[in-house]
Amino acid sequence: MFNRREFSTTLALLAASGWVRPGAVFGSGQQATVFDWRPINDSMRVAFGAGGNVLAVNDGGSLLLIDTKNAGYGQVLRAEAESFGGTLESVINTHHHGDHIGGNPFFTGEVPVYGQERGVKRAQAAGARTLAGILRDPIGRLERLNQQVQNMEVVTAARHAGSESVAAFIAMGEEEMTAMSFSATETFESEQEVEVGSTTLELRHIDRGHTDNDVFVFIPEANVIHSGDLFFNGLHPFIDTGADATTTGWQNCLAAIIEVADRNTVCIPGHGEISDRNGLRDFSNYFDILRDFVQEEIDDGRSRDQITEMQPPEFAALPPRRLNDNLGVVYDELTSGS
Ligand SMILES: [Zn+2]
Repeated sequence: MFNRREFSTTLALLAASGWVRPGAVFGSGQQATVFDWRPINDSMRVAFGAGGNVLAVNDGGSLLLIDTKNAGYGQVLRAEAESFGGTLESVINTHHHGDHIGGNPFFTGEVPVYGQERGVKRAQAAGARTLAGILRDPIGRLERLNQQVQNMEVVTAARHAGSESVAAFIAMGEEEMTAMSFSATETFESEQEVEVGSTTLELRHIDRGHTDNDVFVFIPEANVIHSGDLFFNGLHPFIDTGADATTTGWQNCLAAIIEVADRNTVCIPGHGEISDRNGLRDFSNYFDILRDFVQEEIDDGRSRDQITEMQPPEFAALPPRRLNDNLGVVYDELTSGS
């Protein structure tokens, strides 16, 4: 058994061995918080780092978070979000991937966590694997999570808060955490409204896209959209065919997001910089470019292996990660007749 008191001892040992560096001195450029929080208006901030982009909405002391970062970061995410004002009242999950729901065990059981219903089983399957990993080797798992915290370019106090968060996560894994701790508690099929203070958030699921349970969140009065991973800005997207992703369904989702946006809408992607409606259009075009390229190569008689090794010049500006996978996904879609 690995209880909380032993856990503090573990943290002390990590400190003694240099895992936690309480005395380290950092330059003036260090971030004051674990996450890079950027305000987008008077009541909303986006947190970058350690997982997908999180939107915090604070209306009159009521706080809501969209997504919960990588496993282990829920505690520090909540603390930093509340440090700007407000008390957490609810959480939205944009889909089941671990870099968006990893912090959920800190929130389920505390506040309502909203998500699309097909995400529940997938989140629980991922949660069960995470939990099994903790139970198999809690110290090793803690050391890996803590190493990530130690590598952050942040001030000492933030580093400590991050270390405490991952330590609390491992301790929860040894005690009350279950696979269900990772899944949404309030689910819906296609539409759901969530209130925070006097602000209404409109949650919508359109089609199979990045996964089969993507939700985008539209906040009409603020003209803000959080698209989850239906929008990767400046990056090749992850097309999760293991979770029933399709590129045509994805474009249906993007069309629905573009439909509610106007030229002034702030569009927060799951990954990458904050953008706008034009960014969404460019991203939808990504799939057309990819499909046209692959179709031409198929027509020229090239094989799947040949095509997945190619570098379309249209994508020269993007980091190459996932390009080869995505060429393969589109090849499979085009040759399966779907
Ligand atoms: Zn994702």
